[in-house]
Amino acid sequence: MKKDYYEVLGVSKTASQDEIKSAFRKLAKKYHPDVSKEENAAEKFKECQEAYAVLSDENKRKQYDQFGHAAFENNGSGGYDFSGFDFSDIFSDLFGSGFGFNFGGSNRSKSRGRDKVMRVDLTFEEAAFGTKKRINVSSYDSCDNCHGKGGFDEETCSTCHGSGTVTTEQRTLFGSFMTKTTCPKCSGKGRTYKRVCNNCSGTGKVKVNKDIEVKIPAGVNTGNQQRVSGYGEAGDYGNGDLYLEYRVLPHPLFEREENDIYLELPLTITEAILGCKKEIPTITGRVKLTIEPGSNSGDKLRLKGKGIEDVHSYRKGDMYVVLNVLMPDKLSRDQKKLFEQLAKTDLETKEFKKFNDYMKKNID
Ligand SMILES: [Zn+2]
Ligand SMILES: [Zn+2]
Repeated sequence: MKKDYYEVLGVSKTASQDEIKSAFRKLAKKYHPDVSKEENAAEKFKECQEAYAVLSDENKRKQYDQFGHAAFENNGSGGYDFSGFDFSDIFSDLFGSGFGFNFGGSNRSKSRGRDKVMRVDLTFEEAAFGTKKRINVSSYDSCDNCHGKGGFDEETCSTCHGSGTVTTEQRTLFGSFMTKTTCPKCSGKGRTYKRVCNNCSGTGKVKVNKDIEVKIPAGVNTGNQQRVSGYGEAGDYGNGDLYLEYRVLPHPLFEREENDIYLELPLTITEAILGCKKEIPTITGRVKLTIEPGSNSGDKLRLKGKGIEDVHSYRKGDMYVVLNVLMPDKLSRDQKKLFEQLAKTDLETKEFKKFNDYMKKNID
């Protein structure tokens, strides 16, 4: 069982970013394997790093809150892959710069590319029924000029002699350490080229824009994110992912609350008093609705299953029609006469009794 990220850092689920950062700093100091004397320090340090990489990123934190560890499980490593995360600002003020870059595969230059977030607007109907969208994304293709190598005439790196790392002495507040860092000349590859490829500036990759088609499931709502694998930033160990974040645009008549739809239905006073049949729109077409005689403003009629399908459970929400009885703006001479006639009749209901009784007894 994987431990809860909040538990790992010892913070509450509502902790602020400052609290999360300070909790992580304390734990990093305690468990950093180069300085820690604790048991299983390396393991605990990794656990903290993973938790911090997720919780310090509002997007990832949201996903974790929603789906738990399942949010990141399909990357094959059984947890959030934080190898692309840059801890340098934290470690540099904790231990001095250069520290922490080369621990446990979190090597900065040998990491997976960063994730990206792209906002996508959807109409009310597109969100309700799902849709296919063509989205322009940037991706990284292998450079044709150098066949993805980054240069020509390969040779062993003269700085690190092919090992990809260099050893330097590091002075920190805990004393002096010999630390291995990535070779600055070859970025850890151990090989360099006599001639660097101009077309890709030695990266072996070129940025290209392309249209991809994305299938958006029925029932998504504002703030929901969908992952498109491999369309994030480029990195030596593969590209990051692209997250599409949806925003559902307002509808002229419908309001959405979770998976329920609300429609305000305007009625004249005679329609409300005498009752009527009304045609109303639903997301699946027109429906004829019976309005009972004596209906009031605020009365709610429920149309079961006429809401939006849930994106996970496929269960359908309901539609609620909320009546809004509107007074006429102005009356014609004839209409006024009719109301005056009506006024001579008794229109009081039982709710008037309390008021009338009080007036009779207590007020002169
Ligand atoms: Zn190239
Ligand atoms: Zn080198």
